[in-house]
Amino acid sequence: VKIIKKIEVIKEEISLLKNQKEVIGLVPTMGYFHEGHLSLIDIARKHTDIVVVSIFVNPTQFAPEEDFDRYPRDIVRDEKLAKEHGTDIIFYPEISEMYPQPFYTYVTTEKLSKVLCGRTRKTHFRGVTTVVAKLFNIVQPDIAFFGQKDAQQSVIIKRMVKDLNFPIDVIVGPTIREKDGLARSSRNIYLSPEERSQASIIYKALTKAKKEVEKGNRNAEEISKLAYQIINSAPLAQIEYVEIIDDTNLKPVKIIKAGTFLAIAVFFGKTRLIDNIYLMKKK
Ligand code: AMP
Repeated sequence: VKIIKKIEVIKEEISLLKNQKEVIGLVPTMGYFHEGHLSLIDIARKHTDIVVVSIFVNPTQFAPEEDFDRYPRDIVRDEKLAKEHGTDIIFYPEISEMYPQPFYTYVTTEKLSKVLCGRTRKTHFRGVTTVVAKLFNIVQPDIAFFGQKDAQQSVIIKRMVKDLNFPIDVIVGPTIREKDGLARSSRNIYLSPEERSQASIIYKALTKAKKEVEKGNRNAEEISKLAYQIINSAPLAQIEYVEIIDDTNLKPVKIIKAGTFLAIAVFFGKTRLIDNIYLMKKK
């Protein structure tokens, strides 16, 4: 695996590969790899000739009071894991490379960035779409890979690709979980042992809600209440939202139908966890 830190260098490399008609895949990440990241690399490996993984803890998607400084980083381990999973290129830029000063231009996906996580993380998705647009322009992938774990992010990226005519296919990989169902996340290491053991309640709520829908209940209010109560039974859980929404416009639905998912954000101590599940899949 080649580690490239400079935009000009990776552009040169990509243009050589494009001349050879190689299909380029991009997996954007903030590093500190877990099975979720690695599963996306595996999916990319299957779909493309050249797998590029970007590792960049993107400052513009963190608010000042958030965890940018203490966000976990381990490039040595990441390099080893990326290599084991068949990554061809790691793009690992410095902040000054991605945001040379002055920097005034941002990409914003209206509406979709204001709901769910966007209600409390007001500039988060603007940071995500801006850095992903930059990565798309730099790496020029044929296919980009994102995780269902961050459902709102995946919806927003797909919207941006359509709206701004990026010639890129977006593939969304399934959420990878721990044995007890907790979605893998770089932030799980922040949890105390007690918080960690209670955090499995999130997946219990998601699966119980889905079961109720499978039994025939289509009433979103009843299902979200059920999920809310289950999570609330964990003493350390502080719920931010439990919402049942449509996967194209992220609007709340009253009646559960194909394309409806349940999304949850909950604090355990200072750690904010998100998760989601499709209540009914699109055919
Ligand atoms: P991050 O490094 O947290 O920005 O995540 C990089 C990519 O990995 C994003 O597309 C995430 O949605 C995806 N991802 C994170 N956690 C998981 C997971 N548990 N399962 C699947 N994909 C994930």
